[in-house]
Amino acid sequence: MLDPIHNTRKIFTSTALLAAFVVAPWIEEALAQEKVLNLYTARHYATDESFYTGYTKVTGIKINRIEGGEDALFERIKSEGANSPADVFLTVDVARLWRAEQAGIFESLESEPLNKRIPAHYRDADNKWFGFSARARVIAYDQKKIKPAQVERYEDLANSKWKGEICTRPSSHPYNLSLISSMILHLGEEKATEWARGVANNLARQPRGGDTDQLQAVGAGECSIALSNHYYYVRLMRSEKPADRALVEKVKLVWPNQDGRGTHVNISGGGILRHAPHRDAGVKFLEYLASDAAQTLFAKGNNEWPTVPGVKLANPELESFGKFKTDTLPLADLGKTQATAQRIADKVGWK
Ligand code: FE
Repeated sequence: MLDPIHNTRKIFTSTALLAAFVVAPWIEEALAQEKVLNLYTARHYATDESFYTGYTKVTGIKINRIEGGEDALFERIKSEGANSPADVFLTVDVARLWRAEQAGIFESLESEPLNKRIPAHYRDADNKWFGFSARARVIAYDQKKIKPAQVERYEDLANSKWKGEICTRPSSHPYNLSLISSMILHLGEEKATEWARGVANNLARQPRGGDTDQLQAVGAGECSIALSNHYYYVRLMRSEKPADRALVEKVKLVWPNQDGRGTHVNISGGGILRHAPHRDAGVKFLEYLASDAAQTLFAKGNNEWPTVPGVKLANPELESFGKFKTDTLPLADLGKTQATAQRIADKVGWK
């Protein structure tokens, strides 16, 4: 992977060593005052480019971006420690934000715009991370075989009637671990275990691939029910490919648990790093992500809901879903339950 940030730091470091220690502080200061933001991001959506350029346009600050796998980037920040050039870490799923917070890589940030704009259940209690976009974990079904009323709650997926009918990602993926965590917190460990066992018994095939693969498997008749984050489906709705158009005609969505606690919603978000060399640029970046303009870009680009209330979506497909009831369980609690969720999934054989 190309790594301009590290190279710059290496060059500066060797220059500093050559020029003797007296100039080192000056170089450090110059580094810190560069109009630059070093961003480590695990978001893998091409449309994110729009808010990177938006930030540079508004602030004049250039972004050096390192993209990578969620866990790889997190490990990298940890191993770089105090020498990390990273200012901000963006990732997906609250479980990963929670893990990062537990590892002590984030700084607690008091920012009036962030505190005011982002609802409390979408951010860390100590303001170490903030959720900028929301994603619903929905149930997709083949409308020729299934009636929406038959799968209107997550609990329904455990019904033995659906043996061999369900497709999902592996249980170890944070999207599923967070869902299992929410089941633990709402139903208790024993009932959540029974639920997970029911789902595992109903699987049509060994879990593999991402959410789009599960939607396509329903389309191909391999299963008739799938779990997916909503934005993968919206991507198909917005696609011009005939196969994708046919898929959204055949496969429909249910927003689960509307008659009770609401649909499980997760976030993508990030925070400022404890050793950020360009802290001000990082704070500005997070505040920019919470601005009306950037919040609309999350909706317009990756079909996610803005976490800031009342922001324009500018996305007719997303708007077509209308309002729905979301589970308001504090998201940070889902992080704490991850290990139990994985233990349950392993125990019941949900691979
Ligand atoms: Fe995703």
